[in-house]
Amino acid sequence: MLIGKGNIHPAVQEIASIFSNAGKQVYLVGGAVRDLLRGQKAKDWDLATDALPDEVMALFRPKGGKTPYFAVPTGIKHGTVTVYFRNFAFEVTTFRAEKGYSDGRRPDYVEFGVSITEDLSRRDFTMNAVAYKLPSGPLTDPFNGEGDIKARLIRSVGNPAERFAEDGLRPLRAVRFASQLDFKVDDAVLEAIPGAVSLTARVAPERIRDELDKIIASPKPSAAFLLMEKTGLLELILPELALCRGIEQKGLHRFDVLDHSLLACDFAAREKASPEVRMAALYHDTGKRLTCKIDESGVRTFYQHERESSRLAREIMLRFRYPNAVMDKVCHLIEEHMFHYEENWTDAAVRRFIIRAGEDSLPDLYRMRMADAYATSGLEPPQDYLLPLVKRVEKVLAAGRALSLKDLAVSGYDLKEVRVKPGKQMGIILKELLEAVVEDPSLNTREKLLEIAGKINERYSSG
Ligand code: ATP
Ligand code: MG
Repeated sequence: MLIGKGNIHPAVQEIASIFSNAGKQVYLVGGAVRDLLRGQKAKDWDLATDALPDEVMALFRPKGGKTPYFAVPTGIKHGTVTVYFRNFAFEVTTFRAEKGYSDGRRPDYVEFGVSITEDLSRRDFTMNAVAYKLPSGPLTDPFNGEGDIKARLIRSVGNPAERFAEDGLRPLRAVRFASQLDFKVDDAVLEAIPGAVSLTARVAPERIRDELDKIIASPKPSAAFLLMEKTGLLELILPELALCRGIEQKGLHRFDVLDHSLLACDFAAREKASPEVRMAALYHDTGKRLTCKIDESGVRTFYQHERESSRLAREIMLRFRYPNAVMDKVCHLIEEHMFHYEENWTDAAVRRFIIRAGEDSLPDLYRMRMADAYATSGLEPPQDYLLPLVKRVEKVLAAGRALSLKDLAVSGYDLKEVRVKPGKQMGIILKELLEAVVEDPSLNTREKLLEIAGKINERYSSG
């Protein structure tokens, strides 16, 4: 028995005492119990109670502005109230039974006033259907969730096909937990997934995105994606990736495009890279299928596949309603991942590389490229793989040369002196000045730039 008072946060016990003082039962449920039984720290604390949602709201109603908590009815129809207390958000759910899943997404109605055991039986997997009575036990574990956690096994509560018919997200949750926890999906669960794919197709894209995000955040995302491929979920959710199976590559590559993409994503995860880098690694070669050509000597080429991959990645992320800022970052990393540094690059070439990549994106772009290199051979890239480029970039940055319009010795305002009109033309001229200065930093003085700007302006005006 791994759960004891010592590993339950004191704030949880404080909340629990508010329930028990009011004569109500309260249990720790969900991920917290699962994590504690695995011997891990719990991340978030979900509670289940026999108190009705209105009663929970009343228990945590601020009294005279002095109480350290407040409650928000986040899903009151389904019995969920969120209680904010000491920097935690507790999801408090009333014991409930769910009835009639006619749309394969959510119950038609819920019924309160049931026991904890009945509440546990509506949950998806045995490992998620264990409750710990606060403050100090015992465990209620009607489906041997503790045994399955020990065996690292994902088993449905009841018949998997029936449970998937109630909610088409559950198949995806099964494979997500497999990679998140490094558990095995029980054969009966795995076998029921192909028949449930048409139900998963009806689930809201936001719910699917949340699962994809958790897969990508897991230590080895490929575990989930391979299970998705095997069960038909990948073809449904990410057909762009599923189609990469069997696309062979040239020369140095050991893997087809799908295995290569999964290895790249695993590497990014192992390096604890940001979600954007992990997604860029996953989608960076999806365009290869569409750009594959065989040249005269029989070699496969994928000319400009990075553009096509970026377009497909944006389509995927639009479909799952990712925020624009995330889409832009991922697509930028994909578009720029094909740089080929050589020692004979001039300083100007290094400056142009920095401008294209964006100084802030450089660390992510290096990580993306390391992931790509690893996934090409399946071998660790040498420690100094990108070092020559990184050093050159550092040197160029240290020289403090102009790399953006704001570093120019003149502004748009100054250009009026040489009769450049504000607007589009001024923008173009400023860009040309930057290009000139990137090529030859000694031109970055007010006098010289005004002279060049005047000449360009004349050319435009007369042409
Ligand atoms: P994590 O928070 O790490 O994703 P969790 O198990 O706490 O894992 P939540 O989504 O917070 O997952 O849900 C809390 C509990 O509610 C789950 O442990 C499970 O018992 C139940 N649950 C959540 N989603 C479903 C679902 N789609 N079908 C059935 N039960 C579910
Ligand atoms: Mg949770």
